[in-house]
Amino acid sequence: MVAEIICVGTELLLGDILNSNAQFLGQQLAQLGIPHYYQSVVGDNPERLKKVIAIASERSQLLIFTGGLGPTPDDLTVETIADFFGVSLIEKPEIIEDINQKFSQRGRVMSASNRKQALIPEGAEILTNLTGTAPGIIWKPRGDQLTILTFPGVPAELYQMWSDVAIPYLKNNGWCQGIIQSRTLKFWGIAESTLAEKVAPFLEMKNPTVAPYANHGEVKLRISARADSQELAQKLIIPVETQLREIAGLDCYGADDETLASVLGYLLLKNNSTLSVAESCTGGGLGQLLTDIPGSSEYFLGGVIAYDNTVKASVLGVNLDDLAEFGAVSAIVAQQMALGVKTLLKTTWGLSITGIAGPGGGTATKPVGLVYIGLATANGQVESLECRFGQTRSRDWIRRGSASSALDLLRR
Ligand code: ATP
Ligand code: MG
Repeated sequence: MVAEIICVGTELLLGDILNSNAQFLGQQLAQLGIPHYYQSVVGDNPERLKKVIAIASERSQLLIFTGGLGPTPDDLTVETIADFFGVSLIEKPEIIEDINQKFSQRGRVMSASNRKQALIPEGAEILTNLTGTAPGIIWKPRGDQLTILTFPGVPAELYQMWSDVAIPYLKNNGWCQGIIQSRTLKFWGIAESTLAEKVAPFLEMKNPTVAPYANHGEVKLRISARADSQELAQKLIIPVETQLREIAGLDCYGADDETLASVLGYLLLKNNSTLSVAESCTGGGLGQLLTDIPGSSEYFLGGVIAYDNTVKASVLGVNLDDLAEFGAVSAIVAQQMALGVKTLLKTTWGLSITGIAGPGGGTATKPVGLVYIGLATANGQVESLECRFGQTRSRDWIRRGSASSALDLLRR
């Protein structure tokens, strides 16, 4: 018993809108424990839609359509499905009545084109739409071998109909085989390939499964378990999570909704410490990450954006000779910036960032992507970390990576 998602709309093919309906439905099916192996996107074209239905109806037993239920001529999902199975459409008076009411509530009169939305295949049930005009259908055109659900393209209408009607229907009709639960571990400072090698045996597991993925320098491992209940799923996930955390050590900074900034904030609070930052190439990005966390005023006092060398020297006390000799992008300047802001704002810790975000400004010895993070520690020491993000990275990538690396340095 396998489901398949079919999203109809030329605007999806053109990339005008993101296929968030497929994302929503994919997550929902996983939570309900309904396997699904294929998703299709097809334009508003009856012939091509029929080809998709032909393939999908052979390999899947539950077809979930979104889009093309509206009143306009390009909305042709239901009539095309009916045509494919050779069934005629019949007009449902209760749908006309419902649409009429919705229009009069808004002080308007139903247009003739809306009558089209009252047409459903003979033998299909109405899947009620509380908010919009277009109802969906629940239909079994081949008896128990195939179930079809249709939903409007408008995400809010899909969500309502899915939770109010589709979920109870699927649960009552034996579609839900337990649940799938996931936990995502998050890593910073380790490459996806390195992590994958370290945890290789886990990637072969069947239940739970462990899958790595990476974006923007952050690596994640998603542990997904299939079980009859959330409790049983947890029992499968927890031991694997514990082992993975042991293997990864400090490279694993948290899980699920945790961010580097929230984890660091928690540690600062726990230790009764405060933090200030001095930023050059990130121009406030580090401060933004820190203040994204509600309650960060408890430990984050403020910062200095020292973009120009004169500010690094006059406000943070960076030595002018060192700036001239080593350049603004150097370990020694990063350290002096961190110490400078820690002293200026009287905090427990001082963090700094100075680097070359590009796209211009790099040299052979100091290429784009070279960034130094400075840390002035609680016990009066200073240290620094050299990061090389690579010359092919975008300015945005380098700046975000720098801010995250700074949070990570102090977290460790
Ligand atoms: P309507 O009655 O509004 O015409 P409909 O069922 O015909 O509803 P579509 O015309 O296909 O739906 O899409 C309506 C709008 O819903 C689109 O303009 C788009 O903004 C949004 N939409 C459609 N499909 C998707 C999708 N797969 N993911 C996210 N949004 C979508
Ligand atoms: Mg439409």
